[in-house]
Amino acid sequence: MDCIFCQIVDGTVPATVVVDEPFVLGFLDTRPVFKGHVLLVPRIHVDTLPDLPAELLPVLMGAAQRTAGAVVAGLGAQGSFVAMNNVVSQSVPHLHVHVVPRTKGDGLRGFFWPRTKYTSDEEAQEYAARVSAALAPPP
Ligand code: AMP
Repeated sequence: MDCIFCQIVDGTVPATVVVDEPFVLGFLDTRPVFKGHVLLVPRIHVDTLPDLPAELLPVLMGAAQRTAGAVVAGLGAQGSFVAMNNVVSQSVPHLHVHVVPRTKGDGLRGFFWPRTKYTSDEEAQEYAARVSAALAPPP
């Protein structure tokens, strides 16, 4: 399997994990729009949203809802941008939900996504820990 997100799910490729649940894994995007940008993936491989088994839709979107709360509670963001690309503009063909912390005046406009970098692995771990600690448990 040469899917990078499947390799993150099975632990053969490292990631900074934020959400670790039975059917969903969430980890920091390595090229975040803003620090604390999380990608949520179903543990099973599906390419796009239309491919997701219906029973996993509330599970994945429930995790996205709770992560959207956690970036506010854990990072002090005012809100979030939650999105997914399907085929067009989708650079990794394993379904993933972007949860990007947003604050008024942060400069994000339209569909052009600027990217930043973590200064160190320690800084990435710190962002992940803050979001993870603020994450409500699954229902
Ligand atoms: P998209 O362009 O919507 O498919 O988003 C894919 C995202 O995956 C991009 O924002 C990349 O920065 C991110 N990405 C690619 N490889 C990795 C990786 N190994 N770990 C974390 N994020 C990744």
